[in-house]
Order: sequence, then C-alpha cells, then structure tokens
Amino acid sequence: PPVAGVVAAHVRDVPDFPQPGVVFKDLTPLFVAPEAWDRVLTALADGRHGEVDLVAGVEARGFVVGAALARVLGTGFVPVRKAGKLPGDVVAATYGLEYGEATIEVQTGAVPDGSRVLLVDDVLATGGTAVAAWDLLERVGARVVGFDVVVELGLLGGRDRLGVRPVRSLLTVG
Ligand code: 5GP
Repeated sequence: PPVAGVVAAHVRDVPDFPQPGVVFKDLTPLFVAPEAWDRVLTALADGRHGEVDLVAGVEARGFVVGAALARVLGTGFVPVRKAGKLPGDVVAATYGLEYGEATIEVQTGAVPDGSRVLLVDDVLATGGTAVAAWDLLERVGARVVGFDVVVELGLLGGRDRLGVRPVRSLLTVG
C-alpha cells in the first residue's frame, strides 16, 4: 500500500486530549510497528529536500522521527528542546500553540555555520512550532532546507503559516 495508507492505519485519534475539544493524533502505533515505521523513514529519506548535513527535531516526538531519520541519512541530529533543558548558551523563541504557549531553545554552536538542516516533527498543526524552530536554527547558523512531518492537520493552516518554506507531509488529514 502507499505510505499514506500505512500512516493512516497506524494513527490513533484521541478525543479531548490534552484538553477538551482537541482531537489528538497519536502516532505511538506507528512508532511501535517496525515494518510500518521503516516504510515511513524510507519515504522521508527518499523525499528529502536535496542534500542534508543535519536533521533537527523538536522535543519530544520530533526526537523520535528526527533521530531515526538522521541515522537513515547518515547525518547527525540537532535537538530543539523545551525551555530550560539544554545546557550552555542557547537561543530561545516563544510562540502560540493550538493549545497554549511554548518556549523552545537551540544551543548556539550546535550547528556548523551554513549547514543544510532538515527540520522534522511528527505532526504539523498550526505551524507555530515549525516556524519558531526554523527561525531558531537559522539564528544559530543553519540553512534550513525544509520541514517534513508524518501527519499534517490540513484544516489548521500550518502550511500557510510556513509561507515559502518547503513543507512535506506523508499524510494530510482534515
Ligand atoms: P503546531 O505548532 O503546528 O500547532 O503544533 C505542532 C506541535 O505540537 C508538534 O510538535 C506536535 O508534536 C504537537 N502536536 C500538535 N497537535 C498534535 C496532535 O494532534 N498529535 C501529535 N502527535 N502532536 C501534536
């Protein structure tokens, strides 16, 4: 089956999580299914935006996607973390979420100047996280080549929020 179907078969809808009115897309069934997960990683690796020096992922599920994809591509991995978790000098950005607000950080010096960085996450919702992470990576010297996700929540407008930044998703759902 096409990879979109594989993803669709391994995503669980969780109503009212993490708060009433939100239907959370849970990708855990995909993470625990080795063959399906391998299909997803292969699709992400094949469709990447040209040459990539590093993969970056946003805590926490972006670590699962990003670290695995980095291994497939043979690159290193750059963690984008929630505030207060990274030691040493960091740059920080605060942004609005589908539910609430968040601050994320990247270490200055984590990315060799001009590195081509592919940013990944499990889900694209409003795009706030991706835009903030993209801008932080550029502030520490990266050239971000694109943003890839497994699932895109199409109705939340994340793709529009990312503007001209290249975005790729394996499955788009309403
Ligand atoms: P955004 O900033 O695009 O609104 O939200 C995306 C971020 O929140 C991602 O880091 C993603 O992991 C998380 N997120 C938002 N909605 C969902 C969802 O329904 N399922 C999952 N797994 N993550 C979500």
